[in-house]
Amino acid sequence: MNYRQLFLQHVAQTSPGPIALEMVKASGIYQYDVNGKEYVDLIAGFSVANIGHSNQRVVEAVQKQAAEFMHLIVYGEFIEAPQVAYAKMLTDYLPPALNSVYFTNSGAEATEGAMKLAKRATGRSKIIAFNKSYHGSTQGALSLMGDEYFKNAFRPLLPDVYHFDYGSSAAIHAIDNHTACIILETVQAESGITKSPPGWLQLIRQRCIETGTLLILDEIQAGFGRTGSLWAFEQYGVVPDILLLGKALGGGMPLGAFIAGRQLMQLLTHDPVLGHITTFGGHPVSCAAGKAALEVLLDNKMCEDVLQKEAILKQHLVHTDIINVTTAGLWAAVEFDSFETNRKVIHQCIARGLITDWFLFAPNRLRIAPPLLITEKQLVEACNKIIEAIDEVCSA
Ligand code: PLP
Repeated sequence: MNYRQLFLQHVAQTSPGPIALEMVKASGIYQYDVNGKEYVDLIAGFSVANIGHSNQRVVEAVQKQAAEFMHLIVYGEFIEAPQVAYAKMLTDYLPPALNSVYFTNSGAEATEGAMKLAKRATGRSKIIAFNKSYHGSTQGALSLMGDEYFKNAFRPLLPDVYHFDYGSSAAIHAIDNHTACIILETVQAESGITKSPPGWLQLIRQRCIETGTLLILDEIQAGFGRTGSLWAFEQYGVVPDILLLGKALGGGMPLGAFIAGRQLMQLLTHDPVLGHITTFGGHPVSCAAGKAALEVLLDNKMCEDVLQKEAILKQHLVHTDIINVTTAGLWAAVEFDSFETNRKVIHQCIARGLITDWFLFAPNRLRIAPPLLITEKQLVEACNKIIEAIDEVCSA
C-alpha cells in the first residue's frame, strides 16, 4: 500500500510540504524508515523521547498497564494507582510547594488549566505573556503566543493578554494588582533557545509575590533533564506557583500536567464544582509509561553529563557559515543567514541520516535536542555530519 499518497489524501496536514518520512521502528536514539534506512533522531520528537525511543522498561510498563486496565472513568473520580504513583513520584522530585498534580492530555491543555486556575485564584483577568513564546495551539494558549502572524486568522482570542520581550524589565513593571498571572518558558524554546538574563526571573518572582500574581513556568519543552537539571527552574533560584509539564512527561505516551500547591489546586473543586475536567487526562497507560521513563532517566543519571554534551556541541558546531549557536544543555539552535540556507542544510542532514528541524519563530535556526542518552561519540559524529551538510549547501 502506498501510505505516502494516503497520508497526503486522508491525514489532515499542517503545512504545504510535510517531511513525510515513513518510519517503521524506533529504538534508543535511532529511527528506521520503511526502506530500512537508519536515522539519528536529533530532535527526540520535539523533546519527547528524552530517554530514547521504545525503552524496554517503558514498553513493559505500557503492556502491563494496558493488560490490567485502560480507561475507566473521567479524570479525578476513581483512584487509579498509576496516576497516584506518578503524581507522588513527580512531587517527590519537586519543591514542597508544588505538591498537587493535575494531569491533562497535552501541553496545551496544561496551559489552559493553569490560566483558568490563575483567574479563579485571583479573580483577575490580566495575563502577561511574551513575544516569541509558544504554549500550545488551542485558543486560550494561542492567545498567549507572542506572534501576530500565527494568531491573526483566529481572532478574537482572549482579551487582557499583554506581551513583552523575553528578558525585558518592562514585563516586570507591568505586573500589578490587576494581574492574574505571568506565564513564561523557563528557557524560551521556539525563539531559538533563549535564556533569560541573570536575576530577571527572581525579580519577576518577587514582583509576583508583592502583587498577588501567580508565576506560571512552562517547562513542557525544557523539562526532564534537557537543560542539565531535572527542572530548568532549579538553575534560576525560583519556584513557580504553577509548573507546566508535557512532552517527555509521558515517556512517549500523550500526557501533560499543571502542578501547583494543594491549597491552590483545591480551588478547582468548587465555585464552580468541576472547575476543570477531562475524560482522558492522566490516562493510566500514559502515567505508567511516564513514571517508568522518569525512573529510567533517574536510575541512569541521564541529567549528569548533559553539560559535557553541551560543551561538545559548542566545540564541534563551528563553521564559517554558522552565524551563532545558542544552547541550554543538550539543546541547541544553530543559526544561518536565512531560512533558505537552513532548509537546505536540514534536507542534507536528513539525506545523511540525521533528523532535525527548525524553530517556529526562528526558521533560520536548526534544532538539536537529541535523546539524553546519546553518547559523546555519537554526538560528535552527528555534529560532523551537520558540518558536512553545511559544506554541501554552502559550497554549491
Ligand atoms: N509549551 C511549550 C513550551 C511547547 O513547546 C509546547 C509544544 O510544542 C506546548 C506548550 C504545547 O504542547 P502540546 O503540543 O502537547 O499541546
